[in-house]
Amino acid sequence: MQILIDKILKEGQVLQSNILKVDSFINHQMDIKLFNEIGKEFKRRFDNKEVTKILTIEASGIGIAVITSQYFNFAPVVFAKKTLGGNFSGEAYEAEVHSYTKKQTCIIKVNKNYIQPGDKVLIIDDFLANGQAALGLINVVRQAAAEVVGVGIVIEKGFQDGRNIIEKQGVQLESLAIIDRFENKKVVFR
Ligand code: 5GP
Repeated sequence: MQILIDKILKEGQVLQSNILKVDSFINHQMDIKLFNEIGKEFKRRFDNKEVTKILTIEASGIGIAVITSQYFNFAPVVFAKKTLGGNFSGEAYEAEVHSYTKKQTCIIKVNKNYIQPGDKVLIIDDFLANGQAALGLINVVRQAAAEVVGVGIVIEKGFQDGRNIIEKQGVQLESLAIIDRFENKKVVFR
């Protein structure tokens, strides 16, 4: 997706630890015009799929998922909560997710009311690194006896294991920009 690639080249910053910082348009300030194009592109990639829910994970997936929902008949957006405190009520599906950026493991939770058996769920997230966030979300959908119709990722770091792990689940994975490597702090796309 060329406008996304151009934006990453212009504003992305490569940090020491193989992390791409995109705070100026995704992770802190959000570029809504770009998000809108991202939503349209997800629709194009999953055009043949019926989607009844969009599932993401707090916090950075939420904005992208909300804009994307318009292109899938305003399917409700559910975001998995990363529980740290006690601020969660009701019965929940849970999965353990190891965070690549924070180097810590958390339990993600989704209230059982919001994913129902038979739901057709499109999973959306900002980044794919080692696939742990997406895998946790797939796990939650399957616990609910719902169907994963696909995983849509904005930026995939193709040199990490994520694609392998998600494809092993038999799920369609679509990434809008795939990074091959970082070279002298510059992004090289596939
Ligand atoms: P994974 O679970 O695939 O290992 O990592 C994906 C999650 O970690 C995403 O939800 C994203 O928030 C975060 N993440 C992984 N790599 C990066 C990165 O290079 N830059 C940013 N901004 N977030 C990342």
